[in-house]
Amino acid sequence: MSEPASTVWRLALPTPLPRLFDYLPAPGPAPALGCRLRVPFGKRSLIGYFVSAGPASTEPHALRAVEAVLDHGTSLFTPELWASLNWAAGYYQRSLGEALATALPVSLRQGDALPDTQVPWYALSEAGHTALARLRAGSRPQRLAQFLAEAARDETALLHFDAQWRGSLRSLDQRGFIATERRPPALTLAATRSATPTRSHEQATAVAAITAMHTDFGVALLDGITGSGKTEVYLAAIEGCLARGQQALVLVPEIGLTPQAIRRYGERLPVPVHVLHSGLSDGERAHTHALMARGEARVLIGTRSAVFAPLPNAGLIVIDEEHDASYKQHEGFRYHARDLALVRAHRLGIAVVLGSATPSLETLQHARSGRYVWLKLRERAGGARPPQVLVLDLRGQRLKDGLSRPLLDAIGACLARGEQALVFRNRRGFAPVLLCHDCGWHAQCTRCDRPMTLHGRARLLCHHCGRRRPVPMACPDCAGLALTPQGAGTERLEQALASAFPEVPLIRVDRETTRGRDALGQHFDRLGDQPGILVGTQMLAKGHDLPKLSLVAIASVDEGLFSADFRAGERLAQLLIQVAGRAGRADRPGEVWLQTHHPEHPLLQTLVTRGYPVFAEAELAERAAAGFPPFSHLALLRAEAPHSESLDAFMQAAHALAEGHDAVQAHPPMPAHMPRRAGRLRAQMLLESRHRPALQAVLRTLFPALGELPESRRVRWSLDVDPIDLS
Ligand code: ADP
Ligand code: ZN
Ligand code: ZN
Repeated sequence: MSEPASTVWRLALPTPLPRLFDYLPAPGPAPALGCRLRVPFGKRSLIGYFVSAGPASTEPHALRAVEAVLDHGTSLFTPELWASLNWAAGYYQRSLGEALATALPVSLRQGDALPDTQVPWYALSEAGHTALARLRAGSRPQRLAQFLAEAARDETALLHFDAQWRGSLRSLDQRGFIATERRPPALTLAATRSATPTRSHEQATAVAAITAMHTDFGVALLDGITGSGKTEVYLAAIEGCLARGQQALVLVPEIGLTPQAIRRYGERLPVPVHVLHSGLSDGERAHTHALMARGEARVLIGTRSAVFAPLPNAGLIVIDEEHDASYKQHEGFRYHARDLALVRAHRLGIAVVLGSATPSLETLQHARSGRYVWLKLRERAGGARPPQVLVLDLRGQRLKDGLSRPLLDAIGACLARGEQALVFRNRRGFAPVLLCHDCGWHAQCTRCDRPMTLHGRARLLCHHCGRRRPVPMACPDCAGLALTPQGAGTERLEQALASAFPEVPLIRVDRETTRGRDALGQHFDRLGDQPGILVGTQMLAKGHDLPKLSLVAIASVDEGLFSADFRAGERLAQLLIQVAGRAGRADRPGEVWLQTHHPEHPLLQTLVTRGYPVFAEAELAERAAAGFPPFSHLALLRAEAPHSESLDAFMQAAHALAEGHDAVQAHPPMPAHMPRRAGRLRAQMLLESRHRPALQAVLRTLFPALGELPESRRVRWSLDVDPIDLS
């Protein structure tokens, strides 16, 4: 039955405009909530999402008609996901259409159908059953036939049974012994799994506590030092979830999703483990999405965007390294995957495990206040001992290319013991500054007003806008020839270490040397178990277990110690602990060397002598006193424009709109931490409140009002709710 003519369909469209759009209905009944439709929009055609049908608010003759209904019957969004995305669009101040589109793999967003997930299942045909006794006993085809005689099997099962199953199957098939049929893939694997280690008392307690949470929404913080066996606890919790017939979602940071990590899950769990990350093709992503949507995939491990996976039969969500900044989307729909996962879990009535050696202060505060179950693992698993931390006072030391004599000696001793060393420096390139010794000129990006990084000996690169230029022959200001690199990046450390230790392999790991998904794994494979050195950026903070790694050096901690961002201390502490945690994971205790000019800095003192938990307590006390998150809630309005007049006009108008609300403070607009980037001027305004709902109420009116400001047309602006980077 078609709708009466005065009825319109209201759709969410993937445009920034924060409203719904009316269209004349297509013939036939109204689709279900969330179904995709194709509609004309300007000169284009867009995929929209059905929200409601109702009387027209505009003159119907002014409306255009829906071109096609793409989903018949059910929508791609489960009721829970639909509700969670509606919440997220409202919370993060994004149009519903954009939030919905972000949640779908690209091909589904563009209107493709949910892919077919059926696979061939092979069984023994009647002729095959009859012939079974005549096959040569013990031959490959005979063993395969026997396996198929027990039950029909899909490819995954066959692969686990015999890696070379295809040849045997073909030979049986040619004789008419095989019957094939397409069905959904098998949910479980018949093969035997790798053994579970005997859990420590702490691990067993954590597993029991998480298992007890399975009947309702609840959050457990698994606060466990590096190497304490958190992954073992996740695996046990997932096994429990699978035993109840439910799905588990595991989120990991981008750099944590190594083939080694995936293999560990795959070898232990009695089901196929599916993976979602940025390196997959659109087709692969849509396929995995379809498996989850149909309940045909039971375990999904993925990075940030996997938080949108359909979970029709949800049982558990695990978020590894919950403090990791990569869970926050930094552009467009700026959601936080951890926070969105918590919202979903609440609706789904399931447990969430947040794991970290260095929990975020937000999460710690929830644990302290009793809202989360706080599970602690303070011992390293399997009897491994924690590393010894040595602070190396650089004052008065002669540095050669950023490395002090005592550190070089320690690296030498480590290599002589047949072990491996890791030198960490979060700066790529040769040197962060190129300085004229005669007049003080330094190479600066003219579009960003920041020093350009020297790469190699001849190239200057701006790490903020990508601008390149050759190194000048002489100083542009005084024509002097004393241009000298200041400070050391990973390239310079690599050179210095190579000349100090020419006899061992040296591997540099940073964005230049490590591109592509498994490049990091290949580096580690190349190093193997022989003595050698790794030098690199935070790409080294996670990844493969390196059993021979016994020394970790942090070339300089000083830059992080004095920053304007109130989160800088927390971030530095997390990074130091994560990098340090790589040392001595196996049977030998590790050593961690910190080079600094500020050995007495309170952050280092607390962290080194008393550990992350004490550091975090002190930091929380400071945040409470200053009224910073987690004791207040923030939203940041960012804007940029080529000219200061348009930027100032917009920021002033925005401030006027945001001012004067009870319980929400609109700070005066100010230049961004980098006031100019890529030639554009940048400003920001911070909104702050002790009361989250009050802040949300202001944002709800502010967001559409900003879009209507005439001043907004000459700037690029965005709102970031719960920003984690204030620069
Ligand atoms: P985390 O995730 O906390 O850093 P992992 O789960 O990776 O720690 O465990 C560190 C190492 O200890 C791994 O090699 C793991 O196989 C091993 N391990 C974990 N639990 C145990 C245990 N109960 N007994 C022996 N070895 C264990
Ligand atoms: Zn000069
Ligand atoms: Zn630049």
